[in-house]
Amino acid sequence: MIKKSLHELSALLEKKETNSREIASSFVARIDELNPKLNAFITVDRERVFAEAAESDARRASGKALSKFDGIPVALKDNICTEGLRTTCGSGILRDFTPPYSASSYIRLREKGFITLGKTNMDEFAMGSSTETSFFGPAKNPYDISRVPGGSSGGSAAAVASMMAPAALGSDTGGSIRQPAAFCGVVGVRPTYGRVSRYGLMACVSSLDQIGPVSRSVDDAAALLAAISGHDYRDSTTACRGVDFASPVGDVRGLKAGVPEEYFVGVSTNVKEAVMRAVGELEKLGAKAVPLSLPLTEYGVAVYHLIAMAEASSNLGRCDGVRFGYRSPNAEKPGELYARSRGEGFGKEVKRRIILGTFFLGSGSYDAFYLKALKGRALIARELKEAFRKADVIITPAAAATAFALGEKMGNPLGMYVSEILTVSANLAALPCLSVPVGLDDSGLPMGLQVMADHFNERKMLDCAKAVESICGVPAPRL
Ligand code: GLN
Repeated sequence: MIKKSLHELSALLEKKETNSREIASSFVARIDELNPKLNAFITVDRERVFAEAAESDARRASGKALSKFDGIPVALKDNICTEGLRTTCGSGILRDFTPPYSASSYIRLREKGFITLGKTNMDEFAMGSSTETSFFGPAKNPYDISRVPGGSSGGSAAAVASMMAPAALGSDTGGSIRQPAAFCGVVGVRPTYGRVSRYGLMACVSSLDQIGPVSRSVDDAAALLAAISGHDYRDSTTACRGVDFASPVGDVRGLKAGVPEEYFVGVSTNVKEAVMRAVGELEKLGAKAVPLSLPLTEYGVAVYHLIAMAEASSNLGRCDGVRFGYRSPNAEKPGELYARSRGEGFGKEVKRRIILGTFFLGSGSYDAFYLKALKGRALIARELKEAFRKADVIITPAAAATAFALGEKMGNPLGMYVSEILTVSANLAALPCLSVPVGLDDSGLPMGLQVMADHFNERKMLDCAKAVESICGVPAPRL
């Protein structure tokens, strides 16, 4: 059961060969077995899982299934608010936070009958690339538990790769869905900014964040993305765009696949070869490779982190121990209360970003840093937009190398930031982008191929990914 895709589980339910309770039991048993080892979930509320499964079974029994996916469980990253179910954002400051309302993406899943297995581990406030900044301890890579699963949606990727969940939602601000998907050998999609509502997603960087699916197949990712997409009156940045990508066909005949040279600099030989081999195979299927140059790529990380830290410092002002978040019991005066609550509640990386972000926005540094970063962002976006006149999709590695060892980059924040160079530009330009497995490297670790497309062109992107999936995949981890 745990090996089945969303579509396969749906078919079993429709044929009445199983029910939601049985499916939920299989995944909960798998979580009980593997979560102590992988730490992919922060919260699993078994009672709630089985109550939702029972409701679904009752609906199906009376012929009132909400959708073909009614009764199928998924996992949610722990920055997606779920009414009545603890949502921590991987932070000590929200260790006891139970939201009084639900995120729109979660409501949409519930309206289609999906049930919730639990909340997945993540870097604190989605700041990180390894899930090591989590207050709840790091998640582990199912292919090698001495390695990171990537981040910040590392819990979602590890849960899906290890079959503790058939699929999950993550969030991607600078690569946090694609990079963990690449490290864990699963599919991860960051939609066009505005495709999915951010209402109820705890903000990391509001102008860059998007929720998206993590799954074991491109079809499942497309279906899950379709389920959460669409305009939402509670998020004025969502777009009124129809969904035309729910069932990718994988036809790449005539597709112009741009291959930018800058995205192959500093990339490991294994990854480079795997991606170029896949491009060659796509050409055999009728695609045409188009060489591209995107010289502004090298500024992506600097621009991204200036904007990310500035917005994050502003967003996190609400966690002050008064309105939201942990309140220090050790303070006597108001000023001390703020300082101690934040000092005791936030982890090191979050504090670093709040301090730097506040500095970038200060009157003496705003023009020199923040404004300059906004200009850089506009230039990067323009360069990519122009590239889409020559190419339908852009193909690159999703990460320069495979999963690194736990602890390897924790003492080196700049090293951690620089590793995001291949993913951040899509976020800065608000473009849709995904990672699809492209094989294992010499040490048996998964590698990911990234496909980027023009705004709201998820259909072409998913079609291309489906073709890649048909050429190369990765075997499941041995656990
Ligand atoms: N790793 C990047 C960062 O630390 C991206 C995070 C994300 O996408 N949420 O900011």
